[in-house]
Amino acid sequence: MPNDTPTLLRSATPQLWLNPLRANGGDVPPLVLQGHPWGIADMHTAQHRFARFAPLLAQLFPELADSRGQIESALVPVPHMQQALGLPPQAGRLWVKADHSLPVAGSIKARGGFHEVLEWAEALAEQHGLLGPNTNYTTLAEPAARALFARHQVAVGSTGNLGMAIGVLAAALGFRAVVHMSVDAKDWKKNRLRQRGVEVVEHAGDYEQAVSQGRQLAKPDPLCHFVDDERSMSLFVGYSAAALHLRDQLKAQGVAVDAEHPLLVYLPCGVGGAPAGIAWGLHQIFGAHVHCFFAEPVQSPCFLVQMLAPVGHHPSVYDYGLTNHTQADGLAVPRASLLAAYAMQAMLAGAFTLQDHTLLEHLALLHATEGMR
Ligand SMILES: *Cc1c(COP(=O)(O)O)cnc(C)c1O
Repeated sequence: MPNDTPTLLRSATPQLWLNPLRANGGDVPPLVLQGHPWGIADMHTAQHRFARFAPLLAQLFPELADSRGQIESALVPVPHMQQALGLPPQAGRLWVKADHSLPVAGSIKARGGFHEVLEWAEALAEQHGLLGPNTNYTTLAEPAARALFARHQVAVGSTGNLGMAIGVLAAALGFRAVVHMSVDAKDWKKNRLRQRGVEVVEHAGDYEQAVSQGRQLAKPDPLCHFVDDERSMSLFVGYSAAALHLRDQLKAQGVAVDAEHPLLVYLPCGVGGAPAGIAWGLHQIFGAHVHCFFAEPVQSPCFLVQMLAPVGHHPSVYDYGLTNHTQADGLAVPRASLLAAYAMQAMLAGAFTLQDHTLLEHLALLHATEGMR
Protein backbone atom coordinates (compact mmCIF):
# COMPACT_ATOMS: atom_id res chain seq x y z
CA MET A 1 0.00 0.00 0.00
CA PRO A 2 1.43 3.43 -0.88
CA ASN A 3 1.26 5.86 2.02
CA ASP A 4 1.15 9.19 0.25
CA THR A 5 -1.06 11.92 1.70
CA PRO A 6 -4.14 11.38 -0.55
CA THR A 7 -4.09 7.63 0.08
CA LEU A 8 -3.92 8.16 3.83
CA LEU A 9 -6.76 10.70 3.56
CA ARG A 10 -8.95 8.24 1.64
CA SER A 11 -8.36 5.41 4.10
CA ALA A 12 -9.00 7.73 7.10
CA THR A 13 -5.55 6.91 8.46
CA PRO A 14 -4.10 9.44 10.92
CA GLN A 15 -1.19 11.33 9.41
CA LEU A 16 1.05 14.37 9.69
CA TRP A 17 1.44 16.57 6.61
CA LEU A 18 4.14 19.24 6.41
CA ASN A 19 3.49 22.23 4.18
CA PRO A 20 6.08 22.41 1.38
CA LEU A 21 5.05 26.02 0.63
CA ARG A 22 5.79 27.38 4.08
CA ALA A 23 7.81 30.55 3.63
CA ASN A 24 11.30 30.43 5.17
CA GLY A 25 13.45 33.20 6.59
CA GLY A 26 10.90 34.98 8.76
CA ASP A 27 8.94 36.66 6.01
CA VAL A 28 5.26 36.98 6.73
CA PRO A 29 3.50 36.87 3.36
CA PRO A 30 1.24 39.93 2.99
CA LEU A 31 -2.51 39.33 3.07
CA VAL A 32 -4.28 41.64 0.64
CA LEU A 33 -8.01 41.03 0.44
CA GLN A 34 -10.96 43.19 -0.53
CA GLY A 35 -8.43 45.90 -1.51
CA HIS A 36 -6.99 46.13 2.00
CA PRO A 37 -3.53 45.03 3.21
CA TRP A 38 -4.37 43.27 6.49
CA GLY A 39 -1.87 43.52 9.34
CA ILE A 40 -1.27 44.03 13.03
CA ALA A 41 -3.16 47.37 12.94
CA ASP A 42 -6.35 45.42 12.20
CA MET A 43 -5.69 43.17 15.20
CA HIS A 44 -5.40 46.25 17.41
CA THR A 45 -8.61 47.64 15.91
CA ALA A 46 -10.43 44.45 16.91
CA GLN A 47 -8.85 44.49 20.37
CA HIS A 48 -9.90 48.12 20.89
CA ARG A 49 -13.44 47.31 19.77
CA PHE A 50 -13.66 44.55 22.41
CA ALA A 51 -12.35 47.04 24.98
CA ARG A 52 -14.96 49.70 24.06
CA PHE A 53 -17.74 47.14 24.47
CA ALA A 54 -16.40 45.64 27.72
CA PRO A 55 -18.52 47.81 30.07
CA LEU A 56 -21.65 46.91 28.11
CA LEU A 57 -20.78 43.21 28.05
CA ALA A 58 -20.17 43.23 31.81
CA GLN A 59 -23.65 44.68 32.23
CA LEU A 60 -25.35 42.20 29.87
CA PHE A 61 -23.61 39.07 31.20
CA PRO A 62 -23.19 38.81 35.01
CA GLU A 63 -20.53 36.11 34.49
CA LEU A 64 -18.26 38.83 33.03
CA ALA A 65 -18.40 41.02 36.14
CA ASP A 66 -15.10 39.65 37.49
CA SER A 67 -13.23 40.28 34.26
CA ARG A 68 -14.96 43.66 33.79
CA GLY A 69 -16.30 42.58 30.44
CA GLN A 70 -13.08 41.14 29.07
CA ILE A 71 -13.59 37.81 27.28
CA GLU A 72 -10.33 35.93 27.62
CA SER A 73 -9.02 32.54 28.67
CA ALA A 74 -6.14 31.30 30.80
CA LEU A 75 -2.86 29.86 29.52
CA VAL A 76 -2.45 26.74 31.66
CA PRO A 77 0.77 24.72 32.09
CA VAL A 78 0.02 20.98 31.83
CA PRO A 79 3.24 19.20 32.97
CA HIS A 80 1.43 15.99 34.00
CA MET A 81 -0.27 15.75 30.63
CA GLN A 82 3.09 16.34 28.98
CA GLN A 83 4.59 13.45 30.93
CA ALA A 84 1.62 11.18 30.20
CA LEU A 85 2.04 11.88 26.48
CA GLY A 86 5.68 10.86 26.74
CA LEU A 87 7.05 14.29 25.83
CA PRO A 88 10.37 14.78 27.68
CA PRO A 89 11.14 18.13 29.36
CA GLN A 90 13.92 18.74 26.80
CA ALA A 91 11.17 18.86 24.15
CA GLY A 92 9.88 22.08 25.70
CA ARG A 93 6.89 22.89 27.87
CA LEU A 94 3.29 21.98 27.08
CA TRP A 95 0.47 24.45 27.68
CA VAL A 96 -3.27 24.52 27.10
CA LYS A 97 -4.83 27.76 25.92
CA ALA A 98 -8.17 27.30 27.64
CA ASP A 99 -10.56 28.70 25.03
CA HIS A 100 -13.00 25.91 25.91
CA SER A 101 -13.74 27.97 29.01
CA LEU A 102 -14.16 31.34 27.32
CA PRO A 103 -17.09 32.93 29.15
CA VAL A 104 -20.58 33.34 27.66
CA ALA A 105 -19.99 31.24 24.53
CA GLY A 106 -17.87 28.36 25.89
CA SER A 107 -15.85 28.05 22.72
CA ILE A 108 -13.30 29.81 20.57
CA LYS A 109 -16.28 31.23 18.62
CA ALA A 110 -16.55 33.94 21.29
CA ARG A 111 -13.58 35.62 19.61
CA GLY A 112 -14.59 35.88 15.97
CA GLY A 113 -18.34 35.59 16.37
CA PHE A 114 -18.61 38.23 19.07
CA HIS A 115 -16.34 40.56 17.16
CA GLU A 116 -18.53 40.50 14.07
CA VAL A 117 -21.77 41.10 16.02
CA LEU A 118 -20.16 43.96 17.95
CA GLU A 119 -18.80 45.53 14.76
CA TRP A 120 -22.24 45.50 13.18
CA ALA A 121 -23.97 46.80 16.31
CA GLU A 122 -21.42 49.61 16.51
CA ALA A 123 -21.89 50.56 12.85
CA LEU A 124 -25.69 50.64 13.20
CA ALA A 125 -25.51 52.71 16.38
CA GLU A 126 -23.13 55.18 14.72
CA GLN A 127 -25.33 55.51 11.64
CA HIS A 128 -28.27 56.34 13.87
CA GLY A 129 -26.38 58.91 15.91
CA LEU A 130 -26.36 56.88 19.10
CA LEU A 131 -22.59 56.88 19.52
CA GLY A 132 -20.39 59.95 19.71
CA PRO A 133 -16.63 60.09 20.30
CA ASN A 134 -17.02 59.93 24.11
CA THR A 135 -20.20 57.90 24.52
CA ASN A 136 -20.09 55.16 27.12
CA TYR A 137 -21.17 51.98 25.35
CA THR A 138 -23.55 51.05 28.16
CA THR A 139 -25.82 53.48 26.30
CA LEU A 140 -26.45 50.58 23.93
CA ALA A 141 -28.40 48.78 26.65
CA GLU A 142 -30.92 51.63 26.78
CA PRO A 143 -34.30 51.71 25.00
CA ALA A 144 -33.28 53.77 21.93
CA ALA A 145 -30.51 51.36 20.96
CA ARG A 146 -32.52 48.27 21.83
CA ALA A 147 -35.39 49.47 19.65
CA LEU A 148 -32.93 49.98 16.79
CA PHE A 149 -31.42 46.52 17.21
CA ALA A 150 -34.87 44.93 17.51
CA ARG A 151 -35.63 46.08 13.95
CA HIS A 152 -32.56 44.17 12.73
CA GLN A 153 -31.69 40.54 12.46
CA VAL A 154 -28.45 38.61 12.79
CA ALA A 155 -28.32 35.25 11.04
CA VAL A 156 -25.68 32.54 10.88
CA GLY A 157 -25.19 28.97 9.71
CA SER A 158 -23.42 26.70 12.16
CA THR A 159 -22.63 23.20 13.38
CA GLY A 160 -23.51 24.57 16.81
CA ASN A 161 -20.78 26.61 18.45
CA LEU A 162 -20.77 29.63 16.14
CA GLY A 163 -24.56 29.71 16.43
CA MET A 164 -24.23 29.62 20.22
CA ALA A 165 -21.82 32.54 20.27
CA ILE A 166 -23.64 34.71 17.74
CA GLY A 167 -27.13 33.80 18.90
CA VAL A 168 -26.46 34.45 22.58
CA LEU A 169 -24.75 37.81 22.03
CA ALA A 170 -27.15 39.04 19.34
CA ALA A 171 -30.19 38.18 21.48
CA ALA A 172 -28.63 39.84 24.54
CA LEU A 173 -28.13 43.06 22.56
CA GLY A 174 -31.78 42.95 21.46
CA PHE A 175 -31.35 41.78 17.87
CA ARG A 176 -33.57 39.18 16.34
CA ALA A 177 -31.27 36.19 16.00
CA VAL A 178 -31.65 33.25 13.65
CA VAL A 179 -29.29 30.28 13.68
CA HIS A 180 -29.30 27.74 10.86
CA MET A 181 -28.09 24.45 12.34
CA SER A 182 -26.69 21.42 10.55
CA VAL A 183 -27.64 17.84 11.42
CA ASP A 184 -24.44 17.48 13.47
CA ALA A 185 -25.54 20.14 15.94
CA LYS A 186 -26.15 18.68 19.38
CA ASP A 187 -29.67 18.92 20.78
CA TRP A 188 -28.55 20.59 24.01
CA LYS A 189 -27.08 23.44 21.98
CA LYS A 190 -30.33 23.95 20.06
CA ASN A 191 -32.31 23.89 23.29
CA ARG A 192 -30.06 26.36 25.04
CA LEU A 193 -30.34 28.79 22.13
CA ARG A 194 -34.13 28.57 22.09
CA GLN A 195 -34.18 29.26 25.84
CA ARG A 196 -32.28 32.47 25.13
CA GLY A 197 -34.85 33.62 22.59
CA VAL A 198 -32.93 32.62 19.47
CA GLU A 199 -34.81 31.20 16.48
CA VAL A 200 -33.23 27.86 15.53
CA VAL A 201 -33.78 26.56 11.99
CA GLU A 202 -32.87 22.90 11.65
CA HIS A 203 -31.50 21.69 8.35
CA ALA A 204 -31.43 18.10 7.20
CA GLY A 205 -28.05 18.65 5.53
CA ASP A 206 -24.51 19.25 6.71
CA TYR A 207 -22.82 22.46 7.84
CA GLU A 208 -22.15 23.66 4.31
CA GLN A 209 -25.82 23.37 3.34
CA ALA A 210 -26.93 25.14 6.52
CA VAL A 211 -24.59 28.02 5.71
CA SER A 212 -25.63 28.30 2.09
CA GLN A 213 -29.37 28.18 2.86
CA GLY A 214 -28.94 30.75 5.61
CA ARG A 215 -26.98 32.99 3.26
CA GLN A 216 -29.69 32.78 0.56
CA LEU A 217 -32.47 33.56 3.03
CA ALA A 218 -30.61 36.56 4.45
CA LYS A 219 -29.53 38.11 1.15
CA PRO A 220 -32.73 39.93 0.10
CA ASP A 221 -33.22 41.49 3.55
CA PRO A 222 -31.33 44.79 4.09
CA LEU A 223 -32.15 44.65 7.81
CA CYS A 224 -30.46 41.27 8.15
CA HIS A 225 -26.74 40.72 8.68
CA PHE A 226 -25.52 37.24 7.79
CA VAL A 227 -22.34 36.16 9.56
CA ASP A 228 -20.56 34.24 6.85
CA ASP A 229 -18.25 31.68 8.43
CA GLU A 230 -16.71 30.87 5.05
CA ARG A 231 -15.90 34.44 3.92
CA SER A 232 -15.91 36.99 6.73
CA MET A 233 -12.86 39.17 7.46
CA SER A 234 -14.56 40.51 10.60
CA LEU A 235 -14.58 37.00 12.05
CA PHE A 236 -10.99 36.50 10.93
CA VAL A 237 -9.57 39.59 12.64
CA GLY A 238 -11.69 38.93 15.71
CA TYR A 239 -9.95 35.56 16.03
CA SER A 240 -6.54 37.07 15.26
CA ALA A 241 -6.74 39.44 18.24
CA ALA A 242 -6.26 36.36 20.47
CA ALA A 243 -2.58 36.49 19.52
CA LEU A 244 -2.07 39.84 21.29
CA HIS A 245 -3.30 38.43 24.59
CA LEU A 246 -1.35 35.19 24.16
CA ARG A 247 1.83 37.22 23.58
CA ASP A 248 1.27 38.99 26.91
CA GLN A 249 0.51 35.71 28.69
CA LEU A 250 3.70 34.07 27.40
CA LYS A 251 5.70 37.11 28.47
CA ALA A 252 4.13 37.05 31.93
CA GLN A 253 5.13 33.38 32.25
CA GLY A 254 8.71 34.19 31.21
CA VAL A 255 8.43 32.19 27.99
CA ALA A 256 10.69 33.55 25.26
CA VAL A 257 9.81 32.95 21.61
CA ASP A 258 12.79 33.23 19.28
CA ALA A 259 14.94 31.19 16.91
CA GLU A 260 16.18 28.95 19.75
CA HIS A 261 12.74 28.73 21.36
CA PRO A 262 10.16 28.17 18.64
CA LEU A 263 6.48 28.26 19.57
CA LEU A 264 4.53 25.28 18.22
CA VAL A 265 0.77 25.72 18.22
CA TYR A 266 -1.78 22.96 17.62
CA LEU A 267 -5.15 24.34 16.54
CA PRO A 268 -8.36 22.34 16.06
CA CYS A 269 -9.67 23.12 12.57
CA GLY A 270 -13.20 23.07 11.17
CA VAL A 271 -13.86 25.45 8.28
CA GLY A 272 -10.48 27.01 9.08
CA GLY A 273 -11.43 30.57 10.01
CA ALA A 274 -10.65 30.39 13.72
CA PRO A 275 -7.32 28.56 13.50
CA ALA A 276 -6.22 30.58 10.45
CA GLY A 277 -7.12 33.88 12.13
CA ILE A 278 -5.15 32.93 15.23
CA ALA A 279 -2.20 31.50 13.27
CA TRP A 280 -2.08 34.61 11.12
CA GLY A 281 -2.22 36.85 14.20
CA LEU A 282 0.61 34.91 15.86
CA HIS A 283 2.72 35.31 12.71
CA GLN A 284 2.21 39.08 12.78
CA ILE A 285 3.85 38.99 16.22
CA PHE A 286 6.37 36.13 16.15
CA GLY A 287 7.15 35.82 12.43
CA ALA A 288 9.02 32.64 11.51
CA HIS A 289 9.45 31.63 15.18
CA VAL A 290 5.89 30.35 15.42
CA HIS A 291 4.85 27.10 13.74
CA CYS A 292 1.12 26.40 13.51
CA PHE A 293 -0.34 22.94 12.89
CA PHE A 294 -4.04 22.34 12.28
CA ALA A 295 -5.66 19.27 13.86
CA GLU A 296 -8.57 17.64 12.02
CA PRO A 297 -10.71 14.52 12.49
CA VAL A 298 -9.85 11.76 9.99
CA GLN A 299 -13.41 11.94 8.59
CA SER A 300 -13.46 15.77 8.25
CA PRO A 301 -9.99 16.85 7.11
CA CYS A 302 -11.32 19.60 4.85
CA PHE A 303 -8.39 21.96 5.35
CA LEU A 304 -5.77 19.38 4.43
CA VAL A 305 -7.90 18.44 1.42
CA GLN A 306 -7.89 22.11 0.36
CA MET A 307 -4.14 22.52 0.89
CA LEU A 308 -3.56 19.62 -1.53
CA ALA A 309 -5.93 20.99 -4.17
CA PRO A 310 -4.71 22.59 -7.38
CA VAL A 311 -5.28 26.36 -7.74
CA GLY A 312 -8.92 27.16 -8.49
CA HIS A 313 -10.26 23.89 -7.05
CA HIS A 314 -12.45 23.58 -3.95
CA PRO A 315 -12.84 19.88 -3.17
CA SER A 316 -14.72 18.39 -0.21
CA VAL A 317 -14.02 15.47 2.10
CA TYR A 318 -16.80 13.55 0.32
CA ASP A 319 -14.62 13.61 -2.81
CA TYR A 320 -12.24 11.40 -0.80
CA GLY A 321 -15.02 9.00 0.13
CA LEU A 322 -15.13 10.26 3.73
CA THR A 323 -18.28 10.63 5.86
CA ASN A 324 -17.74 13.97 7.65
CA HIS A 325 -18.97 12.23 10.81
CA THR A 326 -17.15 13.09 14.02
CA GLN A 327 -17.90 13.55 17.71
CA ALA A 328 -16.01 16.84 17.41
CA ASP A 329 -19.15 18.60 16.20
CA GLY A 330 -17.43 21.99 15.83
CA LEU A 331 -15.07 20.41 13.28
CA ALA A 332 -17.65 18.55 11.15
CA VAL A 333 -17.11 20.66 8.03
CA PRO A 334 -16.86 19.14 4.54
CA ARG A 335 -15.18 22.01 2.66
CA ALA A 336 -12.68 24.57 3.91
CA SER A 337 -12.96 28.35 3.84
CA LEU A 338 -11.08 29.60 0.77
CA LEU A 339 -10.23 32.78 2.65
CA ALA A 340 -8.58 30.78 5.43
CA ALA A 341 -6.80 28.50 2.97
CA TYR A 342 -5.50 31.51 1.05
CA ALA A 343 -4.21 33.16 4.23
CA MET A 344 -2.48 29.93 5.27
CA GLN A 345 -1.01 28.72 2.01
CA ALA A 346 2.58 29.84 2.71
CA MET A 347 2.24 30.20 6.49
CA LEU A 348 0.83 26.94 7.85
CA ALA A 349 3.56 24.60 9.13
CA GLY A 350 1.42 21.51 8.69
CA ALA A 351 -1.78 19.64 9.43
CA PHE A 352 -2.51 16.32 11.09
CA THR A 353 -5.51 14.06 11.35
CA LEU A 354 -6.80 12.08 14.34
CA GLN A 355 -9.35 9.40 14.99
CA ASP A 356 -12.20 10.31 17.31
CA HIS A 357 -11.05 7.77 19.88
CA THR A 358 -7.73 9.62 20.15
CA LEU A 359 -9.49 12.95 20.70
CA LEU A 360 -11.60 11.36 23.43
CA GLU A 361 -8.62 9.59 25.02
CA HIS A 362 -6.73 12.86 25.18
CA LEU A 363 -9.72 14.55 26.81
CA ALA A 364 -9.85 11.77 29.39
CA LEU A 365 -6.10 12.04 29.92
CA LEU A 366 -6.36 15.79 30.49
CA HIS A 367 -9.02 15.15 33.07
CA ALA A 368 -7.02 12.40 34.79
CA THR A 369 -3.68 14.24 34.80
CA GLU A 370 -4.67 17.88 35.16
CA GLY A 371 -8.27 17.80 36.36
CA MET A 372 -9.30 19.71 33.28
CA ARG A 373 -12.80 19.29 31.87
C1 LIG B 1 -15.50 26.00 15.35
C2 LIG B 1 -14.56 25.38 16.27
C3 LIG B 1 -13.23 25.16 15.92
C4 LIG B 1 -12.66 25.45 14.57
O1 LIG B 1 -12.98 26.71 14.03
P1 LIG B 1 -13.22 26.85 12.45
O2 LIG B 1 -13.27 28.31 12.21
O3 LIG B 1 -14.50 26.16 12.12
O4 LIG B 1 -12.06 26.17 11.80
C5 LIG B 1 -12.41 24.58 16.88
N1 LIG B 1 -12.87 24.25 18.09
C6 LIG B 1 -14.14 24.47 18.45
C7 LIG B 1 -14.58 24.07 19.82
C8 LIG B 1 -15.03 25.03 17.56
O5 LIG B 1 -16.29 25.23 17.93
